[in-house]
Amino acid sequence: MAVKQFKTESKRLLDMMANSIYTNTDIFLRELISNASDALDKRHILSLTDPEISADDPKIHIDVDKKNRLITISDNGIGMDRKELEDNLGTIARSGSFEFKQELDEKSEADIIGQFGVGFYSAFMVADRVEVVSRKVNANKAYNWVSDMNGYEISDGERAEAGTTITLHIKPNSKEKKYDKYLDRNEIRSLIKKYSDFIRYPIEMMVETYDYKEDGKSEKVEKLEVINSMQPIWKKNKKDIKQEDYDDFYMQEYYDYAKPLKTIHYKVEGNTSYTALLYIPSQRPFNYYTNDYKLGLKLYSRGVFIKDEAKEIVSDYFRFIRGVVDSDDLNLNISREILQQDHQMNTLKKSVDKKIKSTLENMLEKDRENYEKFFDCFGSQLKFGCYDGFGANKDVLIDLLMFKSSKEDKYVTLKEYVSRMVKDQKEIYYASGESIEKIRQLPQMEKVLDKGYEVLYFTDSVDEFLTSIVMEYDGKQFKSILKGDLDLDNDEEKKQLEKKSEESKDLIEKIKEILKDKVSNVKLSTRLKSYPVCLVSDDNLSIDMEKVLRQMNQEGVKANKIMEINPDHELFKALKDLNDKGEDISEYTTLLYDQALLMAGLELDDPAQYALKISELMLKAIK
Ligand code: ADP
Repeated sequence: MAVKQFKTESKRLLDMMANSIYTNTDIFLRELISNASDALDKRHILSLTDPEISADDPKIHIDVDKKNRLITISDNGIGMDRKELEDNLGTIARSGSFEFKQELDEKSEADIIGQFGVGFYSAFMVADRVEVVSRKVNANKAYNWVSDMNGYEISDGERAEAGTTITLHIKPNSKEKKYDKYLDRNEIRSLIKKYSDFIRYPIEMMVETYDYKEDGKSEKVEKLEVINSMQPIWKKNKKDIKQEDYDDFYMQEYYDYAKPLKTIHYKVEGNTSYTALLYIPSQRPFNYYTNDYKLGLKLYSRGVFIKDEAKEIVSDYFRFIRGVVDSDDLNLNISREILQQDHQMNTLKKSVDKKIKSTLENMLEKDRENYEKFFDCFGSQLKFGCYDGFGANKDVLIDLLMFKSSKEDKYVTLKEYVSRMVKDQKEIYYASGESIEKIRQLPQMEKVLDKGYEVLYFTDSVDEFLTSIVMEYDGKQFKSILKGDLDLDNDEEKKQLEKKSEESKDLIEKIKEILKDKVSNVKLSTRLKSYPVCLVSDDNLSIDMEKVLRQMNQEGVKANKIMEINPDHELFKALKDLNDKGEDISEYTTLLYDQALLMAGLELDDPAQYALKISELMLKAIK
């Protein structure tokens, strides 16, 4: 039988395993037991739809043979055929974590093995030879897979029943590591307790105990015992679980380096009874906003796995949630398609949504710091949720939103905003822009801030779209300080402006004429304080939305731009004089317009021409 070589990456990983002297080698057992448990799950699922397949008496058996330095782990799960042995054990399955590894430096190697686990190959952390005998369910042949790390061999084998047996030849002790401890039953027993207690299938092993006789004497006997409590962590009593246990479970299940931000463990009794263990991650998965992101919510029924990515039981706007929902009342025979329409699913979903919402509300109220961390990661998701479906869920989500604002540069909820609006303020002001820095520099900000109004910073591209769907909060309209009429003035001031507009009619008409291809209107306004001009849009599409749409390749959609002029600015007065004298003002007008474009964060039509004109003016001024 020819010895086959491992694929390159597998070889590298194996070497890493074998030499990982700094790593916690204990985890090999957890990895192999977890594979066995998966194999039992798979057999169980098959048996639901295929009457030919039975899944009775599922179990995992561990044996320790000290004399021959062997540990065996066997299961009566789905088993593997020849090709599967080749494909699954000859190449590294968990390539995802391996790529991850390549990005890390040597020091973190221990972390990656310890936290993520590397599956089957972790056997080579403690063994110098591994033998696998496997027989696929409903097949009549078994196969051996044997490796001493320098390649592997596959041959015909013997196994009475379907399932898999893995035999580890434990390494001799080395200077750095003592492997002998793995040949001690008590040690193995405590490792099972520690790492695999919540495995749903019995893990049995011969243990030495004392048999007490009636006369009070005891005798040492060997007995087959189930080691694990078989209670999944979510089924345990809350008071018996430490936060550390919750964190470990989360990090193992989701291959996350970071502990979860929030753990939600609860039980619901009623029409649809269920237990849930939910987590809010403390960091956003790197692919969260892509199609590759997979919902990390699993559905179980009475402790038996039904499906992962269980979209049916949580709303899309809470898709950051991870964890397990285990229901007592689901009918296990229903196929997955039917599952989706099942009204029980809807009841579950409503209940899960409600719990997540109340948890978030509670955090917002009592644990602001963590809520803000959460919002930094997943706030945009909630905003999308509000916007989606023409605001169908806005009432659920609106109070969970926060925006940074001009008040303290800190997050503020809409409720808080409204509660601290100043006396004569009727609307909720916002300004959109690329960054807080850029918004602060907008010419339109000064006046509004002078009035004492708080301005929400809309830096997320979804923000302004959101206000086109959710137009008000608590009876107060959202109002962009960069759009339409701002209405900041009292009657007297308004009269003043009308008068000035009347007096400068000629000039304004002239400017309109010059800029007729560029702006839809030109007018005087009191929006500005130190700056001579600004660009705003009408009440429809804003200039910022136009930018976002352009990034989304929707070139055609344009904001109606209006150039507003500050009548109190010296430049306006000078321009008026010039025009009154009948001189040409088109160059200056274009320059003003260019300035307005720049301040609005838009590109100039002709930057070179702009630079030339500025240079000319500079020269005049210097001379
Ligand atoms: P992972 O479990 O992350 O997929 P592993 O390296 O642990 O990666 O295992 C590779 C594959 O080998 C598994 O996906 C599974 O298909 C198969 N396998 C491992 N152990 C068993 C087992 N005890 N019974 C059946 N199949 C197994």
